[in-house]
Amino acid sequence: MADSEARYKSIFDTTPDLVLILDETGIVVSVNESVERVLGYPPDQLIGSPLSQIMPERYRDQHNRGFRRYLETGIRNLDWRSIDLPGLRADGREIPLSISFGEFSEGERRFFTGILRDVSREKQVAGTLEFLASIGPGLASSSLDFKATLKAVAQLAVPSLADWCAVDLVQTDRKLERLSVAHTDPAKIALALELATLYPPKPDASRGALHVVRTRCSEFRAAIPVEFLKAAACDDRHFEMISSLGLTSYVIAPLIAHNRVYGAITVAQAESGRQFTESDVPLIEDLGRRAGLAIHDAGLYREAQESNRLLEEQATELEQQTEEAQVLAEELEAQAEEQRRIAVDLAQRTEEVEIANRVKSEFLASMSHELRTPLNAISGYVELLEMELRGPVTDEQRADLARIRHNQQHLLSLINDVLNFAKVDAGRLEYRIERIALDEVLKNCEAMILPQIHARRISYTYHECGEPVLVMADSEKVQQIILNLLGNALKFTPEGGKLRASCDHAEGVGRVHVRDTGVGIEPSKLEAIFEPFVQVDQSLTREGSGTGLGLAISRSLARAMNGDVVVESEPGKGSTFTLTLPRA
Ligand code: ADP
Repeated sequence: MADSEARYKSIFDTTPDLVLILDETGIVVSVNESVERVLGYPPDQLIGSPLSQIMPERYRDQHNRGFRRYLETGIRNLDWRSIDLPGLRADGREIPLSISFGEFSEGERRFFTGILRDVSREKQVAGTLEFLASIGPGLASSSLDFKATLKAVAQLAVPSLADWCAVDLVQTDRKLERLSVAHTDPAKIALALELATLYPPKPDASRGALHVVRTRCSEFRAAIPVEFLKAAACDDRHFEMISSLGLTSYVIAPLIAHNRVYGAITVAQAESGRQFTESDVPLIEDLGRRAGLAIHDAGLYREAQESNRLLEEQATELEQQTEEAQVLAEELEAQAEEQRRIAVDLAQRTEEVEIANRVKSEFLASMSHELRTPLNAISGYVELLEMELRGPVTDEQRADLARIRHNQQHLLSLINDVLNFAKVDAGRLEYRIERIALDEVLKNCEAMILPQIHARRISYTYHECGEPVLVMADSEKVQQIILNLLGNALKFTPEGGKLRASCDHAEGVGRVHVRDTGVGIEPSKLEAIFEPFVQVDQSLTREGSGTGLGLAISRSLARAMNGDVVVESEPGKGSTFTLTLPRA
C-alpha cells in the first residue's frame, strides 16, 4: 500500500496537467504543483476553497447547482468526464481548460478528482488554421482590390489569431506604408498610429518590419521582456508608449510572392496573454505568402486593366483624330472650292483687264498717230513762214515762230513717249537680241547728251570699264534706256551738280550705273516711280516737262530682255539708277 501511495504521489507531482482532489462538498483538499503554471496560484492557496473559485463568475452558479444535484440524485448535467470550460487564473485572465473528472471513495467518504489541462495552445493553433482556411479562398480569388483584402485580413486576424495585426507595404527600400492596423480597442489603434508617426522605424534598424522586408526572413519573439523594450525605445516617452501596448509576443512575416517582397504582416499578442510559439511562425509566414500572392495577382490585373484602358484611350483618340481629319478634309475641300472659284474669277478678270489694256493701247497708238499728222503740218507751216515764202517776217514774228517750233517739238516727243509706252505695254515691240558692248552704247549716249549737260553746268565723269562689258540685248532699246536714265539725272540735278556713269560685271550680268547728286527720291516712292504716269514732284519737272512714262518704259524694255532697272537713292543727296542685262 505504501508503494502504491508513492507511485500515485510521483504521478500526481510530475504530470504537467493540474490535478486536484475535491471532497464531497466541492472543496479542494489536494492540488499538485502544476497549479502554479496553469492558474498562477501558489500550490497551497487553493486548498480549502471551492472549485468554483477558479471558474469565471458566470459559470459558478450553474456549476454549484449541477454539483449538488449530482450528489443528491446521481444525475449528471453533462458528461463530466471531459468538458471544455474557461478557467479563471489568479491574475483574473481567462484561459481555455479541458477538464476531466473522476470519483473515488475512501471508506465512507467520497472524493472527486479533476484533471485540468490548459488548451490555450491547441485552441490558438486551431484558431489560426481556421482563420487561414477562412481567408484562404478570399485571398486567392477575389484579391484584385488587394488593399481592401489586406485590410480585411488584418481585421479578421484580430482577435481570433492575435490581439494586434498590422500590414505594411513597401514604398521604397527605406520606407514602408502602413496599410492597416487592427485591434479590438480603437484607442489602442490610435496609440499605435501615433507611435508610428512619432517614432517611424529607422531604415537601418536590425529588427522590425523594414528589416524583415530587407532580409526576407520572418522575425519571432516569444516573449517581450522590459529590457527588450528599453533597448528598442528611442527615449523615455517612447518606452512608456510601447510599454503601454502591453505586447507579450510577436511574429513579423514578409509578404512575398514570386521572389518579390511587397511588405510585411505583423501579428502580436498583448492583453489576451496568449503567446506565439515557434510552431506559429510557419503559419504566419504562410499568411504572408498568401497576402503576397494577392498583391502580385492584383498587380497583374492592374497591368491588364491599365493596358486595356490605354488601348481604349488610344481608340478614342484615334476616333477623335479621324473625326478631326474629316472636318479638316471638309474644310480643305471648301477652301479648295473657294480657291477654284477665285481662280475662275481671276482668270475672267485678267481676261477683261487684258482686253481693256489692249483697247487702251490700241487707242493710245491710234491717237498718237492721229496727233502726229497735224503736228507735222504745224512744223511744215512754221518752216514755210520762216523761209519767208509767204512774205517777209519781222524779228518778233521769227521769235514767236521759234516758240511755236519748240512747243511743237515738245508735244511731238510727248506723243512719241505715249506711243512708245503703248507699244511696249501691248508687247508689240520686236527685239533684236545680240551680243553688244555696254560701254560702247554708253559712250554713244554720252555724245548725244553732253551738250545739254554742259549747258546745265553739271560736271560729268565717265568711269572707264576695265574690259568690255558684253551683254545679250537689243542695242537700240539699251540706248533708249540709258538715254532716259541720263536725261532724268540731268533733269533732277540742280546746276553745279555731278553726274557719273559707269559699267561693270556682277553674277552673270552686265550693269550700267547712272549716278547723280540731285534731289533724290523718298524711300516710299522708290517703287512707284516705275509705274506709268507717276511723277514725284511735278513742280520740278514742269520746266523740263515729262510724262512720267520714261522709267516705266525703261523697266519694261529691260525686263523684256531678261534684265531690270533698279534704283538706290537718298533724298537731298542723289540717286543711282542701275540697268542690268544678261551677260553674253
Ligand atoms: P518723267 O521723267 O517723265 O517724269 P520718269 O518715268 O522718267 O518720268 O520718272 C518718273 C519720276 O521719277 C520723275 O517724275 C521723278 O519724280 C523721278 N525721277 C526719275 N529719275 C530721277 C532722278 N535721277 N532723280 C530724282 N528723281 C527722279
